[in-house]
Amino acid sequence: MSGILRLPYRMASTSSVPAALLRSAAYVGGSWLQSSDSATFPVLDPATGTELVKVADCGPRECREAVNAAAKAFQSWKDVPSKERSILLRKWYDLMIQHKDELARIITAENGKPTKEALGEIAYAAGFLEWYSEEARRIYGDVISVPMKDRRALALKQPVGVASIITPWNFPSAMITRKVGAALAAGCTVVMKPAEDTPLSALALAELAHQAGIPAGVYNVVPCSREKAPAVGEVLCTHPSVAKISFTGSTATGKILLRLAADSVKRVSMELGGHAPFIVFDSADLDKAAAGALACKFRNSGQTCVSANRFLVQKGIQDAFVKKLSALMAKELHVGNGFDEGVTQGPLINDRAVDKVERHIKDAVSQGARLVAGGKPSDAGRNFYEPTLLSNVTTQMLCAKEETFGPLAPVIEFDTEEEAIAIANSANVGLAGYFYSQDPAQIWRVAERLEVGMVGVNEGLLSSVECPFGGVKQSGIGREGSKYGIDEYLEVKYVCFGGL
Ligand code: NAD
Repeated sequence: MSGILRLPYRMASTSSVPAALLRSAAYVGGSWLQSSDSATFPVLDPATGTELVKVADCGPRECREAVNAAAKAFQSWKDVPSKERSILLRKWYDLMIQHKDELARIITAENGKPTKEALGEIAYAAGFLEWYSEEARRIYGDVISVPMKDRRALALKQPVGVASIITPWNFPSAMITRKVGAALAAGCTVVMKPAEDTPLSALALAELAHQAGIPAGVYNVVPCSREKAPAVGEVLCTHPSVAKISFTGSTATGKILLRLAADSVKRVSMELGGHAPFIVFDSADLDKAAAGALACKFRNSGQTCVSANRFLVQKGIQDAFVKKLSALMAKELHVGNGFDEGVTQGPLINDRAVDKVERHIKDAVSQGARLVAGGKPSDAGRNFYEPTLLSNVTTQMLCAKEETFGPLAPVIEFDTEEEAIAIANSANVGLAGYFYSQDPAQIWRVAERLEVGMVGVNEGLLSSVECPFGGVKQSGIGREGSKYGIDEYLEVKYVCFGGL
């Protein structure tokens, strides 16, 4: 954004990346490879601007090599008995738990989130490997009853093939395991392209996959810079040996990948942007609502696709809710380097993210929103932004129309349940939605009427390995995690036995 004042980075004495799992090369066919032209790109600590390491900047050539390695490995991996696949995934899980502190430090270094949150992400990420090591053994087909006496019919489940996986920076580890765990359990092999801001977690996972004995070519990682992402993405979405694409990130990028995938009609799963409403009705327990709002909004500094993005608060309790939330923010939120004790709010991922928060706040204030807390870059340094609370927000303001993906909580007042639902459902995306109410009839009505893939009722944190994650409308296609997630990597084949 033009005219924005960039604060200098501040160095933190406590930041460091553990060397044991730090890898900077691509991982293809079980080997560590530099890019063919020796190109690299820097990975920066968003809190300090320090260069952590230079990573291989792969292009289409390395990507094709990785797809070929995955295609070759698929020929044997698909026939590995599910119990053996299960054991290997479990070993990978065990290694993640054994190395959880180092993995969490890598996340804090490359993503900025506080160490405690990073440790939480590692437990969540490892949980997908554990879950899918169990689900690998529960891939059931069907015997179908048919009207013809001389026939028998079966539905078999088979792995789709090579899966291309593209992940974002906000959960550098969990977004990988949620996809890769399901893919490998199903018998697929993968080529994954991590986000350019956070490739180190993906590469550390590759090292652990190697140690766990996951066969060469089953899990491949091709890191690349933002500049090379379109060319690499094109190979990942159009290569004839790729059967499936799974992406988490922005809706804009998802649409590009969907168009590329259309030409050869590949299977797709898309986890795209959200614009979550968080509705507080008159009947709500306000203390619980404010606590839920704080957790839901400010985890990962608001850079979570299921973060509340619009707080819709009923007229009678609006002032009380704003007061409670602002008091909690002042007490509980501490901005600083994620490696430092007591910090709850790390930096945003980069300049672009800071610019978006600033743009949304300026737009709202210029149209009459009231700044209750925050509203400016934090003096913790460049990329840090004060947790911000706005009231008097209207549906015309930018922050009510699009995802902020940052530490901004805008409060919009409403009168009736119908009005709240109409505002909530006016978005063209629908990932998560939350509401607080103690009226059982209202709870049923609103849970059913919200146009989203996931609903939190009197609960601000809803993700869990066991439950289906995904959205409706332009928030995406498919579900991840849970017993449903593995279906994204399986084909159903009907086999008809005749002449009996
Ligand atoms: P993005 O969609 O641009 O990037 C996500 C991933 O896609 C990264 O790995 C990136 O390198 C890759 N990518 C980008 N363009 C590509 C292309 N043409 N071909 C192949 N890969 C490509 O998202 P971002 O820039 O990291 O974040 C911007 C916005 O996206 C955020 O403000 C937020 O709204 C949304 N976002 C959503 C999630 C989520 O979990 N759903 C995560 C991160 C970001």
